Amino acid sequence: MVAAVNYWIHDASVKRSLKATVLDSNLVIVASELVHFDSDLPHYKTKDGVYRDPSVNGRIVSPTVMWVDALDLILQRLSKSNLDFGKIAAVSGSGQQHGSVYWKNGSSSLLSSLDPKKPLADQLGNAFSINESPIWMDCSTTAQCREIEKAVGGALELSRITGSRAYERFTGPQIRKIFETQPELYKNTERISLVSSFMACLLIGAYACIDETDGAGMNLMDIKQRAWSKVALEATAPGLEEKLGKLAPAHAIAGSIASYFVERFNFNKNCLVVQWSGDNPNSLAGLTLNTPGDLAISLGTSDTVFGITKDPQPSLEGHVFPNPVDTEGYMVMLVYKNGSLTREDVRNRYAEKSWDVFNKFLEQTPPLNGGKIGFYYKEHEILPPLPVGFHHYLLENFTGETLDGLNEQEVLEFDPPSEVRALIEGQFLSMRAHAERFGMPSPPKRFIATGGASANQGILSSIASIFGCDIYTVQRPDSASLGAALRAAHGWLCSKKGSFVPISSMYKDMDKTSLRCKLSMAAGDQNLVSKYALLMKKRIELENHLVQKLGRC
Ligand code: ADP
Repeated sequence: MVAAVNYWIHDASVKRSLKATVLDSNLVIVASELVHFDSDLPHYKTKDGVYRDPSVNGRIVSPTVMWVDALDLILQRLSKSNLDFGKIAAVSGSGQQHGSVYWKNGSSSLLSSLDPKKPLADQLGNAFSINESPIWMDCSTTAQCREIEKAVGGALELSRITGSRAYERFTGPQIRKIFETQPELYKNTERISLVSSFMACLLIGAYACIDETDGAGMNLMDIKQRAWSKVALEATAPGLEEKLGKLAPAHAIAGSIASYFVERFNFNKNCLVVQWSGDNPNSLAGLTLNTPGDLAISLGTSDTVFGITKDPQPSLEGHVFPNPVDTEGYMVMLVYKNGSLTREDVRNRYAEKSWDVFNKFLEQTPPLNGGKIGFYYKEHEILPPLPVGFHHYLLENFTGETLDGLNEQEVLEFDPPSEVRALIEGQFLSMRAHAERFGMPSPPKRFIATGGASANQGILSSIASIFGCDIYTVQRPDSASLGAALRAAHGWLCSKKGSFVPISSMYKDMDKTSLRCKLSMAAGDQNLVSKYALLMKKRIELENHLVQKLGRC
């Protein structure tokens, strides 16, 4: 290893904050920083990093320039912590999947001529044709989803081509909506970036390619060819391919760091910027998930379950993306929009705003919750597609032995401890059911848990009981940030070798690195796992009924 070149840095524009993680050549974290959008950049007046538009149902956006400001601020903070930017060999990152950025005609020259004496945001404030980026929570494009699916021959066909049926938050439907409702702005856009490629653009001072893994979350890419799908492009908007630019694998080099950062922060001019990717693909890398049979569960703002496969079966549920660290394999994933924010909401309503009380309630209540089944949607849910609302059912006399002769009745609410258990059991029963339906390993060989709520032993214990498998946790819950730093190192290595190198070649002495994971919760009792299977069956029946009654968001 070259002595002067021994750090890998990552910046993660995830959801509510920008995090930076710096790894040394032994893959040990040597520095980290965080910029919280709401509190560190209060002048944007975001709540949880976003604006919810009260005038348009389901429209949720973030001010694009806030992400630019955040990059400047986090680098200033790292610089004050005495990090020697000159030693950074490569930078990569993780952007929230599905967010998109619209560069105005003429902005590429602005991007390539940034003045290092001025903050980034002062210079790029006018660079966007659309100032508010649609983000992963947006759900305002149902009409466009149906139009795109129809144009390509149906939802299943779109999923077969792009890895997913049309989803409101995916970038293709978002672009179609802009083209339909604001054609002038669409025309005035010379490049469309994802949040991930957008941050790479800033770092290289030019338009970066879209990473193939993150690009699969757009309903625009042929996942087998790893190339734009002509039929999906045509179904979305005219002249789109030119505005999207090229795709590149996640390990590719986007470019060398722009002179702006060399002069302003003393980066080495040879520092490489590796393609940025989405938060979920980066989590997969950060959790070193490279064994089929293992699944990861991420309990952050949203909840996700994901694993790897060589033989994906795209369907009407779930998503298939290329694996960000394997040029042949795939990543399969289920996404729940109602994750930690909904758990916080239930905690605040029923458990005195305290995780301790929340966990006490979990301990006080029996597994299976006496047949109390809850559905909690603070946000429009993706899986199943249901609108905001809480629903409570009581399956009287349920003991886990049989469903025969048992009737459920809808009730208004439960006692507070049962609400907490119904929320937790409900979420993980839903995950188990949908994971099985999507062909994910059942039970998984093990779960690797990450995200803020993976610190909660009560929650982990319920997961171990419902799935019947061991649960491992990582040293640091922000695996997307760590994964992006690891990918920076991986991209750097591939570049030095001149060809793709399996990432597993970097996994030596893992226990000495910041990537190590440990057993946190042993698998639950198999008898209980079977009882949960019955409750899961009932839950899916109720869920289907709700979807029929209330429909998509
Ligand atoms: P992001 O997706 O924004 O990166 P994180 O992975 O950092 O989110 O997770 C943040 C969430 O973790 C918070 O919203 C909080 O509700 C949740 N969280 C933190 N500690 C606990 C805990 N002890 N129990 C349950 N949830 C927790």
